[in-house]
Amino acid sequence: MAAAVAAGATLVPEAMAQLGPADPGGRAVQLRRGRESATVQAQLVLVAAGLAHRCLPEVPAAGTRIQPGSRIGAGCLLPVATSGPQDPANGAYGDGRLHMAIGRHGYVGLVRLEDGAINVAAAFDGAALAAAGGPAAAAAQVLHEAGFDPLPALTPAAWQLTPALTRSSRPLAGDRYLLLGDAAGYVEPFTGEGMGWALMAALSTTPLALAALDNGWDRQCARDWSRSQAALLARRQRLCQALALVLRRPWTSRFVFDALRRWPSLADPLLAALHRPNLHGAALPGSALPGPAQAPLSTPCP
Ligand SMILES: Cc1cc2nc3c(=O)[nH]c(=O)nc-3n(C[C@H](O)[C@H](O)[C@H](O)COP(=O)(O)OP(=O)(O)OC[C@H]3O[C@@H](n4cnc5c(N)ncnc54)[C@H](O)[C@@H]3O)c2cc1C
Repeated sequence: MAAAVAAGATLVPEAMAQLGPADPGGRAVQLRRGRESATVQAQLVLVAAGLAHRCLPEVPAAGTRIQPGSRIGAGCLLPVATSGPQDPANGAYGDGRLHMAIGRHGYVGLVRLEDGAINVAAAFDGAALAAAGGPAAAAAQVLHEAGFDPLPALTPAAWQLTPALTRSSRPLAGDRYLLLGDAAGYVEPFTGEGMGWALMAALSTTPLALAALDNGWDRQCARDWSRSQAALLARRQRLCQALALVLRRPWTSRFVFDALRRWPSLADPLLAALHRPNLHGAALPGSALPGPAQAPLSTPCP
């Protein structure tokens, strides 16, 4: 946020934004903070409002499709154990390693932070979450199924839950607005990619936004955005979707993990694909980012 402000952005903290009506000159955005409200006019609005965004009341055709059986995300922070990382209250989850426990109805990722606290991030089947009585019990069940050390600190922790995770919004753009990040769609957190997808989408707005500001907006801009996002993210999200499917079936995940244990190099192409930045269309003027293949916006905005 500090970098955005330093670059000239105006930050309006703790305000709710809603897309207002469009006219030939721009899009209204209504901002509300407590009793205060204001309307600003924008030539282009970037809607990066996460999974549960409710920013588009002025666009009746816009909608989000939630995949049936979509998992629910959950996370919490386990504070530093008083007697150090090996404290039985926090188990033996050591430094420098990401622990991923996979159970029949979800998975739990654990990583010890620099200050010794443990960050917990999980995804559960909705029915299993309800049947367990909440995220702490569901996480304990996954750890147990995966043969991990129990973590009593899960129970008193302050958990945060997300709405259903796997979703996609359509259309991805409309009259002077673009959806990006989780607001455009999300799969599951297993591969740890959501922030990367959101950042890639944000980078790829640059050429379109500059063209729209310089030359005006027309429907082709919205079509170009939808096409460029499909090219940018579809393959990577398919990989994540395929992994999510494997994880849902105990026998397929056992087969895959047994194979990887035996031949770890089988994971190399997958890991390389996950770590490779995909910057199609994300070229920033003067950027020193490694040479992306250029091709996202077939037609520049007029
Ligand atoms: C359990 C879990 C673990 C994850 N682990 C990882 C990981 O390890 N690595 C990774 O890369 N990704 C991970 N992700 C995914 C990642 O968190 C998201 O993909 C990423 O944060 C998406 O960024 P975003 O900017 O699109 O949305 P968000 O980060 O959700 O940001 C949206 C912001 O918009 C605000 N907002 C919403 N509506 C309005 C409104 N009307 N007006 C004003 N503001 C509004 C929200 O308050 C929020 O601050 C994980 C997700 C989950 C659920």
